[in-house]
Amino acid sequence: MTDRKTVAETLHEGIRVTFEAEEVLYEEATGHHRLALIRNRLFGKVLMLDGAVQVTSADEFMYHEMMAHVPLTAHADPKDVLIIGGGDCGLAEEVLKHRRVRSLTQVEIDASVVEFSREHFADFNAPVFEDPRFRVEIADGAAFAAETAQRFDVILVDSTDPTGPGAVLFTRDFYADLKRILRPGGIVVTQNGVPFLQPAEFQTAMRGLSSVFAVSRCYLVAVPTYFGGHMTLGWSSDDTATLDVPENLLAERSAGIDTRYYTPAHHRAAFALPRFIETLRSEAIG
Ligand code: SAM
Repeated sequence: MTDRKTVAETLHEGIRVTFEAEEVLYEEATGHHRLALIRNRLFGKVLMLDGAVQVTSADEFMYHEMMAHVPLTAHADPKDVLIIGGGDCGLAEEVLKHRRVRSLTQVEIDASVVEFSREHFADFNAPVFEDPRFRVEIADGAAFAAETAQRFDVILVDSTDPTGPGAVLFTRDFYADLKRILRPGGIVVTQNGVPFLQPAEFQTAMRGLSSVFAVSRCYLVAVPTYFGGHMTLGWSSDDTATLDVPENLLAERSAGIDTRYYTPAHHRAAFALPRFIETLRSEAIG
């Protein structure tokens, strides 16, 4: 523990977002990342990797629900799911709420993020570690995608931003490997950042995904701790029908799943983009 009272997020050049730390619970260099955990009055526990907020106990549901429930209700039969990254296991918790999922493989590069989150974020991720459908592999997600013989119905890339070990998860080669390991009719969702602050990263991802998949779109989620307005989640598939699932079918597929953010109506609405994001996207894909 230290007696420091603030921790700054240094992700975006030109601004610093400072969190007041009621307590600095942990600080460590893991070999892959600099990891810090603080307690903040508004956000609860805040996990930072290399000066970038990854997850907070107060708003994790927003990002995780939208990343999991949108593709899993759009897919007709999502049996086998892959998560790349996602070390805090909040996304895995949402995926495993779907009884139609028979296996969930998570490939995370940094074992200490998983172990650490298991200990400190048990309030949301405890059920994951008791679920026999869940398996975690410690490896680079890009190497896994290039080599595995497994095939998946839904792939979720819950990555850090495109710097450090996460950079490889924003390349065209990686997207081509995802297509190779995706079953026909499958869906890939990727973390594509906050376009107001990261337009170049957003455009690089959209360009790469659209050069590989027949359908490449994005949808929105607003997460208070991912500073800068809307965050975009990339949506890629070779099946256009996945984009137009009627609300009553989405409701049927999500029945019994307890959510605080996701609704079938919002699922469809989240694909309607503000003009500046639509323009960035169309400029990128040409
Ligand atoms: N939701 C967060 C966000 O948008 O900022 C991301 C959360 S999650 C904790 C990101 C995870 O991706 C981290 O645990 C990190 O270790 C992992 N990661 C980064 N690069 C990776 C790679 N090449 N292969 C697998 N996992 C990776």
